[in-house]
Amino acid sequence: MSRRIGIDLGGTKIDAVTLSAAGETLYEKRVVTPKTYEGIVAAIGALVHEAGGGSVGIGAPGSNSRVSGLWRNANILVCNGKPFQHDLEAVIGRPVRMENDANCFALSEAIDGAGQGYEVVAFFTVGTALGGGLVVNGKLVVGANGEAGEFGHTALPWPNESEWPLLPCFCGKAGCAEQYVSGTGLQRDHAHVTGEDISAREIVARARGGDAKAMASLARLQDRFARVAANIACVVDPDVFVIGGGLNELPELVEQLPPLISRYSFSGTAVAQVVRAKHGEKSGVRGAARLWD
Ligand SMILES: [Zn+2]
Repeated sequence: MSRRIGIDLGGTKIDAVTLSAAGETLYEKRVVTPKTYEGIVAAIGALVHEAGGGSVGIGAPGSNSRVSGLWRNANILVCNGKPFQHDLEAVIGRPVRMENDANCFALSEAIDGAGQGYEVVAFFTVGTALGGGLVVNGKLVVGANGEAGEFGHTALPWPNESEWPLLPCFCGKAGCAEQYVSGTGLQRDHAHVTGEDISAREIVARARGGDAKAMASLARLQDRFARVAANIACVVDPDVFVIGGGLNELPELVEQLPPLISRYSFSGTAVAQVVRAKHGEKSGVRGAARLWD
């Protein structure tokens, strides 16, 4: 099949795209995400029918349980515990491939984005949460449990005294990287240290304006990010770290990461590139379209 249809389910909108064999966009559409599970399934079905023939790849928050076949861990709560893939295949009438949305971002960036041409690509999407994905030789590494590349729920490495006690995570454990390296983490950390409860966006704006407290908060986030990256390097030693999500708007942070990663790396010399994602918010739907590649 040469035509590829991609669907990206988000909390507020659903994106659809059809790519030609050459990767050109043949069709694009965005609709508002319905509130109910049945509504979501119907909306995706309608988008695919309109997009026409071709393979169908779908990116969504959460993942498919290999054991039960039920969707889980999605922040679109109505999808959890449902046979999501089964129901979508029923309404679409063909087999679909489904992946976690961060994995779709990662695949898109590795194939024709900022990670193109690198063998091992570690992708982070840093927004409200911390998502991740791992691509090796152009193939998504999903893992036996579908948990590969869940960098947000690796532990914050080498915590210092000021970081104790570790922060609880919604996954039931404490000290997950997402609680520190995310917009939410930045806001909470800044409030904890300074007493100022302001948004991550405001912290960034103040830091750019030279506010010492905001600059210190950003520096802490950066140091933690570097530790997370250095820890991943001990497992797969990526050739490139690609950073997407809200932090993508902070080029200075991305540019300053390599020497910090070196400081924490086992060898003391981290040669991996750290680059900003290329495709922005279109990454998810483009990666979903490539799930059959
Ligand atoms: Zn967690």
